[in-house]
Amino acid sequence: MDARKQMKWWGWGSPEKRPPMPEKPRIELGRMLECELAPNEVVDFERVELPKPELPDGIGAMLEEIVGSDSLLSDRKCRILHSAGKSYPDLLSMRSGKIAHAPDAVAYPQSHDQVMGLLKICSDERIAVIPFGGGTSVVGGVEPIREGFRAALTLDLSKMDRLGRIDEESLTAQLGPGMVGPQVEASLGKHDLTLGHFPQSYEYSTLGGWVATRSAGQASTGYGKIEELVVGAGCATPVGDIDLKPFPASAAGPQLRDLVVGSEGVLGIITDTTMRVHRAPEKRLYEGWMFKSFPEGVKALRKLIQDEIAPDVVRLSDEAETQTMMLMAGDSKLKTIADSYIRLRRFEGGCMAIFGFEGEPDRVDARKKLASKALRSSGALHLGGAPGKSWLRHRFEGPYLRDDLMDMSIFIDTLETATSWSNLMSLYQDVKNSITRALADRGSSSLVMCHISHLYPTGASLYFTFLSPQEREKEIEQWLAVKRAASEAISNGGGTITHHHAVGIDHRPWITRELGDNGVAILRSVKEVLDPVGVMNPGKLIPK
Ligand SMILES: Cc1cc2nc3c(=O)[nH]c(=O)nc-3n(C[C@H](O)[C@H](O)[C@H](O)COP(=O)(O)OP(=O)(O)OC[C@H]3O[C@@H](n4cnc5c(N)ncnc54)[C@H](O)[C@@H]3O)c2cc1C
Repeated sequence: MDARKQMKWWGWGSPEKRPPMPEKPRIELGRMLECELAPNEVVDFERVELPKPELPDGIGAMLEEIVGSDSLLSDRKCRILHSAGKSYPDLLSMRSGKIAHAPDAVAYPQSHDQVMGLLKICSDERIAVIPFGGGTSVVGGVEPIREGFRAALTLDLSKMDRLGRIDEESLTAQLGPGMVGPQVEASLGKHDLTLGHFPQSYEYSTLGGWVATRSAGQASTGYGKIEELVVGAGCATPVGDIDLKPFPASAAGPQLRDLVVGSEGVLGIITDTTMRVHRAPEKRLYEGWMFKSFPEGVKALRKLIQDEIAPDVVRLSDEAETQTMMLMAGDSKLKTIADSYIRLRRFEGGCMAIFGFEGEPDRVDARKKLASKALRSSGALHLGGAPGKSWLRHRFEGPYLRDDLMDMSIFIDTLETATSWSNLMSLYQDVKNSITRALADRGSSSLVMCHISHLYPTGASLYFTFLSPQEREKEIEQWLAVKRAASEAISNGGGTITHHHAVGIDHRPWITRELGDNGVAILRSVKEVLDPVGVMNPGKLIPK
């Protein structure tokens, strides 16, 4: 709860925590993007414009009867904070103070029964319901769309943050959907357990949000993506409960669990989870390696995972991302040492990888030994522990930097996909080219970077970060042009439209191509059964 209160309404995290961008990388970035970095200010909070609240007469009292008057808010600040997630377009609209959609009110339920009560009223009264975890969606997932409804009610789940039963024998834990990452780990840590789920948004995103979006954490190669960790769940829908019992496995037909996981709030609200947990690692060993090129690194990663000796954390940056990381490291001692070592060994211009092993010390050492042998024989250069430790220390800081860049009128966004190993390099090139071309066609320079951070025996994810000078007054058109070009390249090139950011509003135009007409018809028919009036999170995931 406390962490969320510190969140900047127009950006990321607590203002005090923002590490300022040093002068040298700032100048260098301007040089790389061939532009003047003009300041771009955030509008004063008082000047933010948002639609008037329009909760119909009598509805407020009905909702208050369920959650209590102190848990139903409709003040300006609360409505602004719940009007968007944290995507680039979301931040543009916040920073400019022009908010198109805001909830008419925000309710803070504390129990499954309260959620059920709220959903019944909203379904009977045709009020759109938007589930809100940490509000860190980057695909428009929490935007309160109310067209066709009498009002929009956001359900903030932050009060549903209790730790339930821990079964240390079965290694499962019952966790409230409103717990943010640090709450999850602190609660489990007291029992020497960990969930092992660390998305970059970890400080502010919630367990319910992770499950609803099929999230991936930085250590998901080792611990598994969130869907691999969900054992059981409770879900409230407008027509009643779904109770997914925590069986270790079952042959009782298609698994309904997979309807709830990834449902993005369009079917119901996840009110309870039973998660598979792990014993807290006694040892963490993180280190850096260097590959001569991205394809060489990709080949080595494939071998590691297919030979079942992959580290728990794997992150291979392409050449552009490696060079930018080095640039951002400024004049640090670590960078100077790494630079001269890399040059000496003729690896200049190569690709940096971070590998992390976690667990019981003997197993960590044994796994590291096997992986190191394979990496050396693939021609990789060991950089030692310092880059790994540095990455671990700073691993949640990237999003703070985004605010700095937007302050300098830089367009910065990310997108992600996954595909098979045999298609990986071709998709990588297609997406990279599509982003570069879309920006060049608009007369803009660009810096397009990529890394791989989740490995599977059959393929891997690709995560792109791109920067360009902002087209002032045309920021959204610029973003849309890149989003369309990259999504087309992904969709035509054999990648999934999203590996872990979910569909929301932004990826919806490409979902029919991925699932097929019958696939979409299945989703629609499930929604008709569970949410016949269609009040649950309108406009997300399922195409019109
Ligand atoms: C800087 C940054 C870094 C990020 N890094 C990662 C990353 O490393 N890995 C990753 O997977 N994602 C990442 N994301 C995306 C985002 O954090 C994830 O999608 C996350 O899972 C969202 O969690 P949340 O609690 O913030 O959910 P919200 O943003 O509040 O909601 C996301 C969606 O889930 C629905 N929802 C939320 N709670 C529930 C519930 N209890 N029941 C039903 N529906 C619900 C919402 O309606 C919405 O559609 C990042 C985002 C940012 C801004």
